Amino acid sequence: MHTNSTIEISRTALQNNIAFLQKTFGKKTVLSSVVKGNAYGHGLAEFVSMANECGIQHFSVFDVEEAKIVHAKLGDKVTIMVLGLVSDEDMDWVIANDIQFFVFDKHRLSNAIKSAKILKRTAKIHIEIETGMNRTGFDKKELTTVISILKKEKEQIDFIGLCTHYAGAESIANYYRIHKQIKRFEEAYEYLGDNGLKPEIKHSACSAASMMFPETRMDLVRIGIMQYGLWPSPEVFVNYLNSKKSKIDPLSRVITWKTKIMNIKKVNAGEFIGYGTSFLAERKMTIAVIPIGYSHGYSRSLSNQGRVIINGYRCVVVGSVNMNMMTVDITDIGNVKKEDEVILIGKQGDMTVSVASFSDLSNQLNYELLTRISKTIPRKTIQ
Ligand SMILES: *Cc1c(COP(=O)(O)O)cnc(C)c1O
Repeated sequence: MHTNSTIEISRTALQNNIAFLQKTFGKKTVLSSVVKGNAYGHGLAEFVSMANECGIQHFSVFDVEEAKIVHAKLGDKVTIMVLGLVSDEDMDWVIANDIQFFVFDKHRLSNAIKSAKILKRTAKIHIEIETGMNRTGFDKKELTTVISILKKEKEQIDFIGLCTHYAGAESIANYYRIHKQIKRFEEAYEYLGDNGLKPEIKHSACSAASMMFPETRMDLVRIGIMQYGLWPSPEVFVNYLNSKKSKIDPLSRVITWKTKIMNIKKVNAGEFIGYGTSFLAERKMTIAVIPIGYSHGYSRSLSNQGRVIINGYRCVVVGSVNMNMMTVDITDIGNVKKEDEVILIGKQGDMTVSVASFSDLSNQLNYELLTRISKTIPRKTIQ
């Protein structure tokens, strides 16, 4: 276990975000909490327990490895839906434990039916429709076959959902493409209906779609980034603010990442700091060394750019982010000592380092930075 830094996840913040999302979507729409990528870096097991205590009963994961972690933690109390990979070897476990999953090709469909027959159970499936993302999903021309299989194997199949995923709803540049997708999805739904097949629910929205295109909310929304208190993009945030009188961010960041100073050093003007020559001290400087580097998920692209908070001041990373360490400039802030707290993501006094501000700097999405935070750092639940 790594102890150089700690990650706290805040129940109050999560509760606030869930309340906001539920109020926005209304009672009829189920909120599925998307927890792939180690719950966007928040720590899968810790996060799902907390979310369940805050009322979440539906979780979306990417693969069976993640499904097993959620299942071990919460068992049959919740619905687990796999959006991505279910390998052939995992199918029996999935069906035996009533795990729901996306089906986007005939191989998985027949494999699910085979498993269900052997286990004398039903496969709880969501049929994914290709509407224009061109990643996963059945094409229009495959639907006839899918329909006949679903009808023939009624005993083995529980047709829970019809679903799709949008290709970039967070950017207005994709407006027409998303609209086309919505239309194609509705057409597929109707086509199934005309052929006597009706899923229990239909769903399509991620965070961005749910805010930018309310008609995509349907029966269930799959919400990742916003439940963690971050917006999918500045555009989605601004679009929301424009629709409201009060210009207040309704979301609260759930994660805080902090560490402590491990060394302090004086550097003379004219010296380079760290590996190579990327940072030249143009004056006499004081540098704090921090025991966090790219092996912990602090991206190397934040070299000479990232910001941290020490003693209530923002400090900039100087030199390159190393594997286990980085250096920050503390020349102009007085009274800094070894072991003083350093905020990598989060708040100290009035000062905040948000994930979003990192992303602007490094051109990484919020998503990427969060999910890269090392799994070995302990996650602690706080109020
Ligand atoms: C990741 C994912 C989501 C959630 O996306 P956010 O932008 O984090 O809300 C929803 N649906 C699918 C299929 C996904 O892969």
